[in-house]
Amino acid sequence: MTETFKGSFTQQEPIPEDGIAAALEVMRSGRLHRYNLAAGETGETALLEREFAAYTGARYALAVASGGYAMATALRALGVKPGDRVLTNAFTLAPVPGAIASVGAVPVFVGVTEDLVVDLDDLAEKAGEASVLLLSHMRGHICDMDRLMALREARGLTVIEDCAHTMGASWRGTPSGRHGLIGCYSTQTYKHMNSGEGGFLVTDDDEVMARAVILSGSYMLYGRHGTRPPEEVFARVKYETPNVSGRMDNLRAAILRPQLARLDAQCVAWNDRYRTVEDGLRGTPGLRLVERPEPERYVGSSIQFLLLDWSDGAIAEVIDRCLVRGVELKWFGGAEPTGFTSRYDSWRYAPGERMPKSDRVLKGIVDMRLPLTFSLDDCALIARIIRAEVGAVWQEQAA
Ligand SMILES: *Cc1c(COP(=O)(O)O)cnc(C)c1O
Repeated sequence: MTETFKGSFTQQEPIPEDGIAAALEVMRSGRLHRYNLAAGETGETALLEREFAAYTGARYALAVASGGYAMATALRALGVKPGDRVLTNAFTLAPVPGAIASVGAVPVFVGVTEDLVVDLDDLAEKAGEASVLLLSHMRGHICDMDRLMALREARGLTVIEDCAHTMGASWRGTPSGRHGLIGCYSTQTYKHMNSGEGGFLVTDDDEVMARAVILSGSYMLYGRHGTRPPEEVFARVKYETPNVSGRMDNLRAAILRPQLARLDAQCVAWNDRYRTVEDGLRGTPGLRLVERPEPERYVGSSIQFLLLDWSDGAIAEVIDRCLVRGVELKWFGGAEPTGFTSRYDSWRYAPGERMPKSDRVLKGIVDMRLPLTFSLDDCALIARIIRAEVGAVWQEQAA
């Protein structure tokens, strides 16, 4: 009997009941705008900012409209100007180079290793070309942050971290997003907390946060923020900083607060699923798993494996055969992006030199989401299906 999987790879969990109740409360109040507060009220958005700052250990957190907006705001707050070059990953998701392009700056792509992290040798070579690195922890893979921080020191780089897939993760005990000057997060439906759209920016830096608050559209109501730099810092920047509206609203914040309280437990549940799939795939001929470094505490909300040096036809066959059995894999390396774009040569507004070592890795990356609506039995079944289909195509090739 051939097993098939019936679940949906895009079905997230429902919003927790206390989040729904809090959202109803906000709707009944009519005060959805973050600055629309009753006398003495702090507001859901400001409370969420305080809680997220406390969660990450940052002095300041700003809740915004999306992860992409958080990154663009970080770049603007650092004074990145049109024509400036900004280093970023060759393997990431489209909103990352898109944030750079949105401020008129030019992405300089840094290669990817077989461990799916930024190639630090390539970064060392290119570090002289730019002063800012927008580092994407793509699909939750954290590079050697000790070495990265040493490189930052030596080369005078300013680091912004894209933590869309590392909310709740850490490196040697330091939360992801807290190594760089600024950390950016997304609360879009497919990330670790779900408000449909949304995001955060965190930093300890007074000026960066004051600028980010004004940029986000504070209408000089920055006094109503959950975490905010001293008044004199705003006084220095408020006339010079444009308003580029991208605020979060109280409705989304109300949905997110109960999710933040559960985030660590959710991360454990993701990793249980991740390890179940990983165990099921271990030892599959022709399939390379990504071994995670010891200092990395990751969040396994998706899993990747490599079909390194396989022909395009053979990889496409694996994807097709798995899909027939209900297992939806994304071939990040596919020449034509479908439903996502994740490799540097898809972003033709930012031409770069070819990177043959990275191209070899990119071509073989296969990705799969692990929504928490999957049970551990589901995960074991999915792994059996992938193992069987990869094995079958591998044998065909050998024959
Ligand atoms: C989702 C995502 C973002 C930000 O996404 P938004 O949809 O703008 O919230 C940034 N980086 C990566 C790697 C992502 O996957």
